[in-house]
Amino acid sequence: MSQLQRIAITSSQLQSGEIFLTNEQQHYLGNVLRLHEGDKFIAMDGFGSGWLAQLKAEQAEILEPLQFKTELSASVTLMVALPKGNAFDDVVRECTEIGVSYIAPIISARTLLNPSPQKLERWRRIATEAAEQSERAFVPTILEPTSVVSFVNGDLSSSAHHKYICDARGDFPHLLSCLPKEQMTNEQQQISLIIATGPEGGWTGKELENAVNLGFEPVSLGKRILRAVTAPIFALSIVAAFFESEQI
Ligand code: SAH
Repeated sequence: MSQLQRIAITSSQLQSGEIFLTNEQQHYLGNVLRLHEGDKFIAMDGFGSGWLAQLKAEQAEILEPLQFKTELSASVTLMVALPKGNAFDDVVRECTEIGVSYIAPIISARTLLNPSPQKLERWRRIATEAAEQSERAFVPTILEPTSVVSFVNGDLSSSAHHKYICDARGDFPHLLSCLPKEQMTNEQQQISLIIATGPEGGWTGKELENAVNLGFEPVSLGKRILRAVTAPIFALSIVAAFFESEQI
């Protein structure tokens, strides 16, 4: 199945065994991927469902539903203070490949970038493409950019099982040693984690203190200072390796 091309669709495009393709999707399948009528591809809705589909003239027929086995067992939210320039594009792309569920772009006290509205659209497009390329069942959700205070006080943060804030300077335990050892049983909901990484100038003392007061554990990512772009990718890699090393 892996040789088949994938596209993301919304569930409203599905109707009685057919997928009503948008003009953009028809263009992508026909002109970019060079599929012809009768060729098969995979359509996925970004929420865990996918279908084997066959291209018709202007739409596609669903042949069968598919099971994906490419998701992390934990739901991981990265709370990432926006780095300078276009560097966040790489964070979105690479973290999608590794298996992130949510990315919250954060404007912190020392964030230098004020993102334009087009950026969010761009990051969402990058996440969709990266999810297709990595054969993921889910396209991660890229949240609206928000402040540290509103994110750490928000619903996603209050409902997470475990929360970590990475700080480069403190004498904190390593993230790996703080990850939850207990296994959730199937009846329980999926385990959810949040990992926060700061901007080039780091978190302010007040931001760190506030997060800790709201249940974030301060953690280290090792002895070297990582760039703002590297830190979320590295942190997520640790989490993915932790959760998957038992299963593979
Ligand atoms: N200029 C800052 C470092 C910022 S690095 C300083 O001198 O302290 C950008 C972000 O990456 C940090 O806010 C932190 O969240 C994360 N980070 C980088 N290296 C880290 C490390 N060794 N341990 C924990 N977090 C780290």
